[in-house]
Order: sequence, then structure tokens, then C-alpha cells
Amino acid sequence: MGLLTEGSPLSWEETKKLASHVREHGISQFINLYKRLRDRQGDVLKWGDEVEYIIVKFFDDKKEAKVSLRAQEILSVLNERELADPNGVKSLWRPEYGAYMIEGTPGKPYGGLLAHFNIVEANMKHRREEASQLLKPDEVIMSLTSFPRLGSENFTDPPTKPTPNEGATRSLFFPDEAIFPGHPRFKTLSRNIRQRRGEKVAINIPIYKDKNTKIPVDDSYKYSKAALPDHVYMDAMGFGMGCCCLQLTFQACNISEARTLYDQLTPLCPIMLAFSAASPLHRGFVTDVDCRWNIISSSVDCRTEEERGLKPLKENKFVIKKSRYDSIDSYLSEQGEKYNNIPLLYNEEDYKKLRENGIDHLLAQHIAHLFIRDTVSLFSEKVNQNDEEDSDHFENIQSTNWQTMRFKPPPPNSTIGWRVEFRPCEVQLTDFENAAIVCFVVLLTRVILSYQLNFLIPISEVDENMQKAQKRNAAREEKFWFRKDITTHISPPEANECCKKGTMNCEPKDCDMFGLMTINEIINGKEGEFPGLIPLINSYLSGMDVDADTHCTIQQYLKFIQRRASGEILTTASWIRNFVTKHPEYKQDSKVTERINYDLLKTIKDIQQGNKSCPELLGYSTMSKTKENIPNALFKDC
Ligand code: GLU
Ligand code: MG
Repeated sequence: MGLLTEGSPLSWEETKKLASHVREHGISQFINLYKRLRDRQGDVLKWGDEVEYIIVKFFDDKKEAKVSLRAQEILSVLNERELADPNGVKSLWRPEYGAYMIEGTPGKPYGGLLAHFNIVEANMKHRREEASQLLKPDEVIMSLTSFPRLGSENFTDPPTKPTPNEGATRSLFFPDEAIFPGHPRFKTLSRNIRQRRGEKVAINIPIYKDKNTKIPVDDSYKYSKAALPDHVYMDAMGFGMGCCCLQLTFQACNISEARTLYDQLTPLCPIMLAFSAASPLHRGFVTDVDCRWNIISSSVDCRTEEERGLKPLKENKFVIKKSRYDSIDSYLSEQGEKYNNIPLLYNEEDYKKLRENGIDHLLAQHIAHLFIRDTVSLFSEKVNQNDEEDSDHFENIQSTNWQTMRFKPPPPNSTIGWRVEFRPCEVQLTDFENAAIVCFVVLLTRVILSYQLNFLIPISEVDENMQKAQKRNAAREEKFWFRKDITTHISPPEANECCKKGTMNCEPKDCDMFGLMTINEIINGKEGEFPGLIPLINSYLSGMDVDADTHCTIQQYLKFIQRRASGEILTTASWIRNFVTKHPEYKQDSKVTERINYDLLKTIKDIQQGNKSCPELLGYSTMSKTKENIPNALFKDC
């Protein structure tokens, strides 16, 4: 989830007093870092994935499934192995927000060879097996975006009780014991976000209204005025940050390529969110959304009432439109500039300081905008830093701006270059699906750079797409703003005058450059109108030499992506919805009972372990030729 600084967390009162200290030094640290590293060149493509998992424990006698709060125990063994052989391990393991979550990445980044696509799935399998060996017989790790009964009665093992009147979260539903206990960051963030906001976070997600669904959904409204009657109400950071995702990081060859990738991948964020939708169930209810996004967004919304526009503003304050977890607000490359059509908030002094130190307008406003957020976790040992060498204050703010994309400067004293992170995707049940998504997105970056594709649309339309992406069945039914002519960087001749000039005063609907497209059309193409991402990838691949096994694996992945995009097979969210609504115990009341939860998770376990086929979710051919290692011969060739 971000930087894990060692040390003792300061109280909220102390942290608050140091907000401007962190801002001032954080910005200076970025400036110094930029001066040192802006001209860094020649880094090669390296990339990696991150998969987050939930540890589930089954109680076969009672037919119940709970989250198992053993992440810390399991991680301590996994991390010992890493310490003993930092360069030899095949996977790296990190804590996540939940005491029931772990996060795994490959031991080393992948590189620029196509053959690397053939080891992604094997590595994911290896990770799953490695962590599984440390589980008790009745436990399973699952790459599951949301645990369906998180925050329902008795959802943890060992059993815990929420403490609404004390502790970090003060939730009616989510106990502090379900927060990862091994590092103070997670509880500190929960406490400080609540305190900064001035009240508990409030997450209201519309209920899926079935025949017998009762409104109000439950009696939350009796305990909290923040609860909306026809919504599933949640009141803790854990409901959001306790969800799992699939992320990707790319190293670019220099800062300018990183800025291009950051921008070009931005319009793809909502598309991939809708495509990977996997979380319709929350707090024991069937909701009317398919994705986790808005839930996490509200779960870390530390804005005060003034900042949310609910109270008159005090001096020097401003209304902030979004939570610190949300979609990005501005493009970073020159091509992107004319599509930056939402007003960007920042402190004038911060922006000026960045500009005076040689940072261009687009990057300066991006950094200054990140710093509209106050620090929400500070460690006493880290307060005083050497801005020439350290970057913790910068990282403090950077790593708590959880956005769809992240632009990452090289860490100090490392061999790592400028990177971008792609963060919207929900995690899928099987390694095959996750590997397919990862390879698809990485291939897209190759196609974007080789063909100099242009996916840019006004940033306000990306935001609109983000909201559409989360709707029930969006992957099949929704239409998204997308750029029609992606092969030209200048406005095509048929573009309307207003679009050509790049003044985005015209509505996209009046503009020929952008159209509304379904996920199917975007990914598979639309005759005569849009080439489609998969055909573009295939044309890129047709010019490449690749070994037979890798070719076969990539084709399996692309076929799977094609089928899911076309609606021939279901998204994870639709499959989960169908499972629940067809379950014999389901009473058309939008409730996920203990038994439904148990049966669903048992079925998922069988699918992810390959013991049950599930053609409606995966199609018929999910056997790739993935391998543990790249054949030696290929290494020599390049
Ligand atoms: N679990 C979070 C999500 O689902 C992301 C946390 C992180 O930044 O690693 O988006
Ligand atoms: Mg993570």
C-alpha cells in the first residue's frame, strides 16, 4: 500500500502541527531529486506485477468462511527467507492493510523480452504455492477483491468484536484487530484520517434492489446519521483498503517516456476497471456496483467538512473535489496539456517554488497538487531530514495519494529509473486471468510506444468513465468516452474546429474526435470505426520473433481478454452475482448469508486450484504454456 517507514508514529495532534513542515521539505526533496535525476537516460523496460490476497479460513462443520488474521505470522516466515537470500528468492511478500491480507510480487522485475510474458503466470502460481505451504489445512489464500461478508457478524478468525467507542477506527462493524498489527502505519492512517476528517469515514454503496430487498437495508441509520437507508453503509478504512487489487509497475527509459506512459494509460484506467470488475458484494450484501473503487475512495476520505464543501470555508482553505484515493486530475506530457480541462488545486507558493527550481509547468502543478493533501502518518524518527539525500517527506505525501496512476521518481541511491504504476484493476480469481490482464496491459504499453498511439481524451471524461465503470454490468452495457482516431497525435482533419484548437470548451459529444464505445468495441474493435486494442496488439506481435511456447501463451491470454470483452464469458463480478442470486438459500433479499458466502468461497477455491472448470467465467481454454524460467537460448540471442 505504500512506504513502510520504521519507527514510532506521532499522535494526530503532533502530526497536524507538522503538516507544513512535511509539505515544505517534501517539495524541496522532490526538487533535489529532480535536479539529480531528470537527465537519467537509458534505463531499459522492466516491469512487475503486484497481487494482493486474502487469507480465508473454512469451517466445514458450521459451513462458514472467515478471514484469518494470520498475515503477520505468515509474512514473518516469508520475509525471513527474503532476508536470508534477497537476490535469490522468486517472490517478495509485503503486508497490506488487513490483518488477513498479504501482497506478493515477483522476486525480480521482468524485462523487455517477449519470453518474459511466459513466466508471469508460473511466478504467480509459485507465489500462491509458497504462501499456501504456510497455511493451516483449513486455510486458503485467495486473490479475491472483496471478502463478501467483511464487517458482518463474526467475520474474523479468531473472533473479534468492533469497538465503536475506542481505538483507531471506532467502527460499528470493523474491529481494529482486523488491521495489520505488524506495522504501525495502518492503524495510524486509520486513526489520523478519521481525526483529520473530524468524524468517521462514511461509505454508502447503493444496494442491489431485488424482489424482497428491505429498505432500510439494516438498522445502521439508527446508529449513524451518515447511513443512507437504501445503501450499504460502511464506516471504516478497512472496508476499502481491506480490498485486494492487481497492480503493475513499468520502468521507462527516461522521464519523458514515463510521462507519456502515465498519460496514455490514464484513459485506459476506467476501461480496465470495468473489464476487471470483481467486487459486487460488501458487508454481507449484494450491491448495485461491480467494483471496489468508490468504496476505497470514501474509506480514506480525510477531507474536513469545509474541504468537502459542506461548511463555509476558513481562510486559506479550499474545497477539494476528490478523496486522496481516486483518479488522477492532470496529464503530464505536452500532448496531454490541452486535455487538462479540470481546474487543478494547489498552493501558489508550492507551485512557484517548483517552477523557480526549473520544473516545468505540467510537472510542477502535478507535484503541487499532490501536496494539497496533509500528511496523515508521521514517525518521530523521520521528522528531521536532510533534504539533499532523503525523500521520506516527499514519499509520505506521494504514497498516500492513492490514484489510478502513479508517477514515480527513481528512489535515492538506486539503479531504478523513472517509473509509472497502473493501479485500477481488480484482482481476478485465477493466476491465468491475472497473468492475462498483466500481459495485455504490458503489451499495450509496447504498442503505444512503438506505434506512438494517442488515447488522450479530456481528463473530465476519464472521470466520467470512472463512475460509469463501476456500475452493475458496465463491462457489457456501458458506453465509455474513447478517442476514435488513436493513430494521430494531431487532430484529424474531420475534427470540429473547437477540438482542433484544443480548447475543450466544446462538449465531447459535439466533437468528432471522441466517441462513446462499449468495452467490446474498445478491446475488439468496431468495423470501419475503431481498430480495437487486441487487433493492434496482434499486428504489433506479427512483426516480432517469439518462441512457440510464449506465442501460444500470449494467444491464450489475448483470446481470453477478447472473450471477456465481448461478453461471451462473464466478468468476475457478474459470475459472483449469478452465483449468489441462484443459490438455493438466497431469498431475493440482497443478503449474502453465512452459507452462501461459504459455498461461494468453496467454489472459488476449487476454481483457483484448477479442480473445477468454470467455462462461463474462463472459457474452455485456460491452459497456457507458462514456464518457470526463460529458456537459456533466448537470453543469448539478445
Ligand atoms: N488494495 C488497494 C486497492 O485495491 C491498493 C493498495 C495499494 O496501493 O497497494 O486499490
Ligand atoms: Mg498493495
